[in-house]
Amino acid sequence: MTINVAVIGSGPSGFYTVDALLKSGKDVRVDIIERLPTPFGLIRGGVAPDHQTTKKVARVYEKTALSDGVGYFGNVEVGRDVSIAELKEIYDAVVLAVGAPRDRKLGIPGEDKANVFGSADFVGWYNAHPDFKDLDPDLDTDTVVVIGNGNVAVDVARVLVKTDEEMTETDIAHHAHDAIQASPIRDVYMVGRRGPIEAKFTNVELREMGKLDDCVPVIDPAVLPDEVEGDWSDRDRRLKERNLATMKEFPDVDPTGKSKRVHFTFYAMPVEILGGDKVEAIRFERTKVENGRSVGTGETFDIECGMVIPAIGYFSEPFPGVPFDEQNGIVVHDDGRVGDGVYAVGWIKRGPTGVIGSNKPDGEQAAQQIFEDIADGSKPGSEALANLLAGRDVRAITYKDWQIIDAAETSSARPGAPRRKFITVDEMISALD
Ligand SMILES: Cc1cc2nc3c(=O)[nH]c(=O)nc-3n(C[C@H](O)[C@H](O)[C@H](O)COP(=O)(O)OP(=O)(O)OC[C@H]3O[C@@H](n4cnc5c(N)ncnc54)[C@H](O)[C@@H]3O)c2cc1C
Repeated sequence: MTINVAVIGSGPSGFYTVDALLKSGKDVRVDIIERLPTPFGLIRGGVAPDHQTTKKVARVYEKTALSDGVGYFGNVEVGRDVSIAELKEIYDAVVLAVGAPRDRKLGIPGEDKANVFGSADFVGWYNAHPDFKDLDPDLDTDTVVVIGNGNVAVDVARVLVKTDEEMTETDIAHHAHDAIQASPIRDVYMVGRRGPIEAKFTNVELREMGKLDDCVPVIDPAVLPDEVEGDWSDRDRRLKERNLATMKEFPDVDPTGKSKRVHFTFYAMPVEILGGDKVEAIRFERTKVENGRSVGTGETFDIECGMVIPAIGYFSEPFPGVPFDEQNGIVVHDDGRVGDGVYAVGWIKRGPTGVIGSNKPDGEQAAQQIFEDIADGSKPGSEALANLLAGRDVRAITYKDWQIIDAAETSSARPGAPRRKFITVDEMISALD
């Protein structure tokens, strides 16, 4: 009998799992269950709005979604509309592909002040994720501090300093675009606790910072070593050499006519966010790197600013009905097997690391494990879920519904833009009615 599988989450790890299940050629049917009406997880809600080429991977996922034997239940949240225990009754296997949607905290005094936003929230806000529509950051400031030395930090800094024209061909949320373009932001500090060699930017993202229309990268040449030292793999060394070469070019970027600066600031760790109810400055302790780790030197300095965005990593939430490893912020699993017909893939399994493609092997492994563990299907699948949801008055969105929402977004785009994103779930549903 057909093996019925539910994949919870429609991000990369969910889609790679569906794809691997289909490619097996076995008698299998898969339903994707997604809490938002819109699919694709962080491809839509995380990847920067000006990196449309990266988002094109969604076209491949679309082919998977439209394949025979695949169903889509959007606007259905597991834990709210249906429990994992119920899904286990309906499906032979359940795959958790729910990502890591929360911010890792700095854990310093003042972090709860107004205008301090973790990057998950801030990125969600500018990418029109409905959860963050009410974030309402106050951008009436000339200085923003972004904490972190990875690609998400660069994304945030870049989106804050790009011009209206540079953002034309993007799908940034219109509310965020208006607020950022109206803002007097002039200086963005991107601060990392370690040095330029340890920074985790990829070279393409870093190079972009030297080619902006109205912004120059600022870097103290004194922090740049002559060459990459340390014990790195060949691959890492090559990346770091490229990054070092790029950073060495930054002081030569001509600032004439450019009104904004992104300051690459190294060897500093945040110790306190200062101000009244709202952030007014942030205090850092200077660090040095010993054996690859940053160590405080006791010397402090402050940067006055009106907004702080920690971009220091993501964290999963405990998922209702499955054991959670609080320390590592992932679901408890044995090489992907959670037990009792449940499997984990992507960021909820591995933690929030890697690029889109890093999720593919997880999907392939989960498919293999499912077929190792389950020889024959015995559960009812799709129709039973549809009936259960209908009985609860849950408005499930089909993939065809999403295509209508998609068409409504693309047809209302401003010239050059790929789409104008809906901001609320109600707006998305209204597009269908
Ligand atoms: C800001 C940012 C920018 C990035 N940019 C890039 C980039 O440019 N290039 C690159 O290669 N990688 C990038 N990445 C990494 C990439 O996005 C991740 O590797 C990938 O999205 C992880 O996939 P995932 O499926 O595990 O999680 P996600 O993409 O987060 O997908 C999880 C899905 O599960 C759904 N879900 C959660 N809970 C439930 C529930 N209870 N019920 C139903 N559904 C649920 C969510 O709504 C979501 O759709 C970026 C990541 C971030 C955070």
